[in-house]
Amino acid sequence: MQKVNLKINSQNRIKNAKNYTAWHLLDIAVKNIWLDLFAKKWFHFDTWCYVEYSWIYNVEEKNKDFWCGCWGTHIKSTWELKKVEITNIKNKKWNCKISYRIG
Ligand SMILES: [Zn+2]
Repeated sequence: MQKVNLKINSQNRIKNAKNYTAWHLLDIAVKNIWLDLFAKKWFHFDTWCYVEYSWIYNVEEKNKDFWCGCWGTHIKSTWELKKVEITNIKNKKWNCKISYRIG
């Protein structure tokens, strides 16, 4: 058996948790405005975060989205976010890509 040492970069982990939590807030806001949008692709890393929504109502996808549990790491309180800035909204055919960053 081989011994392995792991080290967690706490600053990166907290930043990723903030980006992920910001996505939840964004998703709530989007669903409050456009009820038929559903997230089909998301990307949240240090320098660039976005969620791609589809305008096409798809019952199977919506149910899948509903039943999937969340496996992300989150911050304890949204207060820690301070600011979530929408940096771009781009519509292309049936997709809406929303880019954001945390402050
Ligand atoms: Zn989550």
